[in-house]
Amino acid sequence: MVVSTYRWGLHLGKKTDKFAVEKAIFLEHIKAEGLRRTEQRDLILETFLDTEEHLTSEDLHRLVHRKDPTVGLTTVYRTLKLLTDAELAREVRFGDNKTYYEHHYNHEHHDHMICTECGRVIEFFSAEIEALQDQMAVNFGFKPTHHSLRMWGLCSDCQATSDESHTAPPGAQPRVRVRTAVH
Ligand SMILES: [Zn+2]
Ligand SMILES: [Zn+2]
Ligand SMILES: [Zn+2]
Repeated sequence: MVVSTYRWGLHLGKKTDKFAVEKAIFLEHIKAEGLRRTEQRDLILETFLDTEEHLTSEDLHRLVHRKDPTVGLTTVYRTLKLLTDAELAREVRFGDNKTYYEHHYNHEHHDHMICTECGRVIEFFSAEIEALQDQMAVNFGFKPTHHSLRMWGLCSDCQATSDESHTAPPGAQPRVRVRTAVH
């Protein structure tokens, strides 16, 4: 299915469309949901695919709003839900009670380190950790559907500038303010 829509997308596009596959997947999903393709949804999808950030719906709305001020936050939020259902986006949480979205399609699984000082989010992947997690699940007869490994602490920059008093007491929930490039 993906291969045929891929060809179809390339064939239709006059200039090379770098998001042809994603757009085809989205269109397929929207049709299955009985929804119409709209310019606003297309713009939201393109804006989302154009950034490699971890975005809240408010962040994405801010970006979309610059291109089309008539797009409302609710439309952005609902479209992000559609993108998640279509497996183009995935939800991530960093402990600040917000839902962030990142690219899912064609993006390898990864985990996150979150700096509680500057809000930087570092992505990492370890085949060894993944294998250990799978083994743990087997040990407990557990069938995992997904997982998210998050570490909170200080990034290398903040270790250089921060004194010990900034460190949360053990057991306390870290205070997190995630930093994105979207303002
Ligand atoms: Zn992982
Ligand atoms: Zn930091
Ligand atoms: Zn990520």
